[in-house]
Amino acid sequence: MNEPMQDVIRAEGLGKTYAEGKLHTPVFDGLDIAVQAGETVAILGASGAGKSTLLHLLGGLDVPSAGEVYVAGQKMSALSDAARGRLRNRALGFVYQFHHLLPEFTALENVMMPVLLAGESTGEAQRRAQALLESVGLGHRLAHKPGELSGGERQRAAVARALVNNPACVLGDEPTGNLDEKTAGNVFAQMLELNRAQGTSLVLVTHDRRLARRLDRVLELREGRLHALAAADV
Ligand code: ADP
Repeated sequence: MNEPMQDVIRAEGLGKTYAEGKLHTPVFDGLDIAVQAGETVAILGASGAGKSTLLHLLGGLDVPSAGEVYVAGQKMSALSDAARGRLRNRALGFVYQFHHLLPEFTALENVMMPVLLAGESTGEAQRRAQALLESVGLGHRLAHKPGELSGGERQRAAVARALVNNPACVLGDEPTGNLDEKTAGNVFAQMLELNRAQGTSLVLVTHDRRLARRLDRVLELREGRLHALAAADV
C-alpha cells in the first residue's frame, strides 16, 4: 500500500473492543483518520465516547482489535515491541492531563530524558532541554523538581518534554484539563505556538470547544465514528 508522505498518522478501519472475561465493550469499529504534517486536529466527544482509547491506539500504546495504524508511514502492527518503542520516542510526543513527570528528577532532567533515550549525548540533551524549557518560560526553574513547580509550570515542562525530540506529531489527552481556566489558556497557547514553530502536528483530545476551535480541524467522536465539524458548529 502506498504511504503518502504527508500523513504523519493514519488509521484505517480501526476497531477496538475491550474484552474482559465474558464482558465485551465495543468502543468503535471501522474508524478512519489521517493527520497531515503540521496539521492540528481536535477530537471532541462525550465522556466514554472512546477519545482516550483512540489516542492510545494512534500512539501505539494499545493494540487495535481491527484495522491498522501508520505512524510516519510505518505500519505499527508490523514492528517489534522494541522498534515500536523507538518509533514512538522519535516520531511522537505525549502530553496528558496529569504531567507524568518523574518526581525525583529536576525539570531539566525530565525533559532531557527522551533525548537520552534516543541515544544522544548528555550535552546535546541538556542543550535541547534547556532551550525548550526557556521557550515555555521555565528558564528559571530548571533545577526544580515537579513537586516544587506550580500546576501550570508542570504542564509546561510536560509540553517541553513532548516536543524535545522534535516529533512529527504530539498526542495530547486533555493536557490542560487539570488547570484553572486562565492557566489552561496560557499553557494551551504556548503549546500551540511551539507546535506551529516546529511544524509539529497535534492531535488533541479535549472537551473544551473554545480550545478546539483554535485548531485547524475539529472532529467529534460519536457512536464510534469521527464526524467533521464545521467551524460554526464547534
Ligand atoms: P473517553 O476518553 O472518550 O472518555 P475512553 O476511551 O476512556 O473514553 O473509554 C471508552 C469506553 O471504553 C468507555 O465505555 C470505557 O468504560 C471503556 N473502557 C476504557 N478502557 C477500558 C478497559 N481497559 N477495559 C474495559 N473497558 C474500557
